[in-house]
Order: sequence, then structure tokens, then C-alpha cells
Amino acid sequence: MNWDEYAGWSKQIADWSAHYHKTLRARPVRAQTQPGEIASLLPKSPPLKPEEMGEILRDFEEVVMPGMTHWQHPRFFAYFPANATPPSMLAEQLINSVAAQCMLWQTSPAATEVEGVMVDWLRQALGLSVGFTGVIQDSASSATLSAVLTMRERATGYTGNRQGLSGKGHLRIYCSDQVHSSIDRACWVAGIGQENLVKIAATGPRHGMDAKALDAAISADIAAGNIPAGVVAITGGTGIGGCDDLTSTLKVAKSHDLYTHLDAAWAGSAMICPEFRDAYWNGVDGFDSIVFNPHKWLGAQFDCSIQFLRDPTPQLNTLKIEPEYLKTSGVTVTNYSEWTIPLGRRFRALKLWFLIRSYGLEGLQTRIRNHVGWAEELCTSISDLDGFEITTAPILSLFSFRCPGDDAAQQRLVDAINDDGRIYLTQGSHAGRKIIRVQVGQFDTTFDDVMAVKSVVQEVWEQIR
Ligand code: PLP
Repeated sequence: MNWDEYAGWSKQIADWSAHYHKTLRARPVRAQTQPGEIASLLPKSPPLKPEEMGEILRDFEEVVMPGMTHWQHPRFFAYFPANATPPSMLAEQLINSVAAQCMLWQTSPAATEVEGVMVDWLRQALGLSVGFTGVIQDSASSATLSAVLTMRERATGYTGNRQGLSGKGHLRIYCSDQVHSSIDRACWVAGIGQENLVKIAATGPRHGMDAKALDAAISADIAAGNIPAGVVAITGGTGIGGCDDLTSTLKVAKSHDLYTHLDAAWAGSAMICPEFRDAYWNGVDGFDSIVFNPHKWLGAQFDCSIQFLRDPTPQLNTLKIEPEYLKTSGVTVTNYSEWTIPLGRRFRALKLWFLIRSYGLEGLQTRIRNHVGWAEELCTSISDLDGFEITTAPILSLFSFRCPGDDAAQQRLVDAINDDGRIYLTQGSHAGRKIIRVQVGQFDTTFDDVMAVKSVVQEVWEQIR
């Protein structure tokens, strides 16, 4: 394909994209295909001869699209949405066209410098104090892994990378039982091990760690000869939105000189609204590392996860490696690949620049405020359904409920709703029981879309009860 042909197809795809987004409500949210169905439509072997782009695009429509779940659908209320706003999609097109590897300052100075400024814009937007710097990672999972590796290295006097962990005792990491599975995985991959991730039972209306229980667990470990290495707190757990009290958690962690990381993957975006900070963000400035995903609620297309660092030195001491071929001569610069695990990096900051300029912080705040308010209204209206129970009250835009019946009935209802296709919900668990989650956060969702959840739940329930 030559570049003139590329331009023609590219325009055609841009038109397709706009039409797709404008007509999403006509599609079922969750793919309605069976396992293996799409694969069975693909040739078993690669083509030997070139094929026409028109034919490839036709197959994309006919073979691939029926097997897609529509994450940009305004009635997507599952997991947490991964929003892709039009300005961030445009920035992605430019990033894809330039296709630079932005691992070092000199491999694209603009990418490094825009990244530094975007991290600082978001620091200000989230009300974090001056002094936090940070880096854009692909995902919260990678940021958390970086933080857990830093905990490991700091607790071993930065000897783990060189010597391995053998003979170094049991390093221990602490968190609540509401954390995302990325914390477990980080402990597996860092060589700490699942058994050394100490989960403190969440309590209270916010489902957070009890600071006294955290302190007791750390003290018991010290008495047993284990080595406490760090604490991972959460603002907005995935299951029911659990939030640790940041001030008391930090107080305990700091009294034992532990490294601290805060996972605010989805809920962090809401902190651009100052009115939510008193309840969810007090004390945040004391954390060593904080992650939130603009690719969730803020609208920057995946992947785009910001890790703020109070002092980048411990993470650099953990991850920086500088072979001769990666040295930059003659200037003192920031090389962001030294802050993260992968070397190669995309120019993710451009998406933020386009996004924030296009909507302004006020435009983004309005969406988040609407989502939180609409989730509360929906929760009230579901509580009116006969026999339905609100199992966890809204934390920002996430709440959960149960229909009448046992756990199997909850799953039957979720499956029937998703087979129906008008909305998409997922299940979770709380207090030993299955629950049905509702998470409002899709960028184009409207009040009517959100309130449609109640009528769909009611209708589908009547059909299957
Ligand atoms: N932490 C929380 C609280 C999440 O909700 C999620 C994903 O939904 C993650 C971490 C993982 O995010 P990522 O997919 O960016 O690794």
C-alpha cells in the first residue's frame, strides 16, 4: 500500500468510526457470540498472495465486529469503562503515524517534555502538592508492579535485583481485602509471593482497612522475624469501591518506615472535582506512589496510566539500567524508560494534551459529577424494586444490589441481562454473597441511559423469575 492509498483508506475508516460511535445504541453491548465462533470464520493458514484492503475491511465488519463487546457503548455499566474520547482518538492517530519510541529524551524530546508537563497538569488537577513528579505507564498493573518492586528493593537495601531474594527472609506487603488482583499479581511477579501479601479485613461504610489491625499485623510480623516492606492502599476498589482511610493508613505505615503506594485506578479521576477530596483524598500527599488511570474515567484512550511519585529516587534505584547504547551524552535530561519496566514507550502524553485542551477541566468535571449524581439516583430507584436489596451504597459512581433469591439467581439475572444486550453489568461478591455491580462512567452515557438500567433489570427479572 502506498501513502496515497493509505490516506484514502484512513479517511474511510474515520467516517466508519464516527458512524460507529453515533449508532452504538443500536448494538447489543456485550458480544452475543459463542466461544470459537469467530475463530471458525477465519482461514486456518495465512494468505500467500496480497489481498485487497476493501476485502479486509469487509471481513472486519462481517467477521470481527459481531464478536466485539462495545466498550464505548453509552449503556456499558460493567467493570469500569475504558473511555476513548474523540480528541484522544485523534491524538492516537497522530501517535500511530509518527510511531516514535519515546524511551529516552533524545529519542523524541517533545514526548518527554509534554509528558512532564501533562503529569504536572494532572498533579494540579487532582490537588496533589507541588513536588510530586511522575511518569505515564501503560496500566495501573505496571505502576503497581513498579511500586511493589521498589518496596522490595528498599526493604532489602537495594540488593534484590543483584542477588535475588534467596536467604533474605519473608518480605511482607500489606493491603485491604478489597484490592484489585493487580496487587496480588505484583507480589507474585516481584518474587514476594501470595502468602506474603497480608490482607487486612475491610470494615465500615467505606470498606477500608482498619488502621489498628494493620498496625497489629505489621508488629506481629516484626516479632516473627518477617520483613515488612510496604503498604498498598486503595481509593475505589474494583468490587464495591472500597476506600482506605488514607491518613490513618499512612500514619501506621510511616511509623514502621514502610514505602506506600495508593491504587486509585478508577476513582482517582473523580479527584479533579474538589468536592470529593474531603471524603476520599485527605492525606494523599503522604503517599510515596499514587496511580490513577486517565484511560478509565477521564477519557484518554487506553493505554494511559499516571504514576505520581513523591520522590522518584527509590523507583529509579530499583528500575534504572543504563547500558552504553542507552546513554545520552552531553545533557542532563529525564529518560522516562528508567522509571518503568518496559524500555519501549509510546507517546501517551499527546492524548492527555488533546483531551484536556478539548474539554477543559470543567468539561471533564461536569461529566464525573453527572455520573456520580446519576448513580445515586439509579441506586434509589433500584431500591424501590420489589424484593431487591442495595448491598453496597454508592461510592462515587459504583454501587451494588441483589435481586430476590440465592447466589445462583444473581448470576442468572446478570447473564440474562447481558444476553438481552441493552445494558452490560457484571457480578461481584461482598460479605460472602454474590452481588450485581453497577458502575457509571461511560463518557457518552446520559441520564436516560443510566435510568434505563432500572427498567431493563425489572423487565428481565420478570422474564426469568
Ligand atoms: N486497580 C483498580 C482499582 C482497578 O479497578 C483496575 C482495573 O479495573 C486496576 C487496578 C487495573 O488497571 P489496569 O488495567 O490499568 O492495569
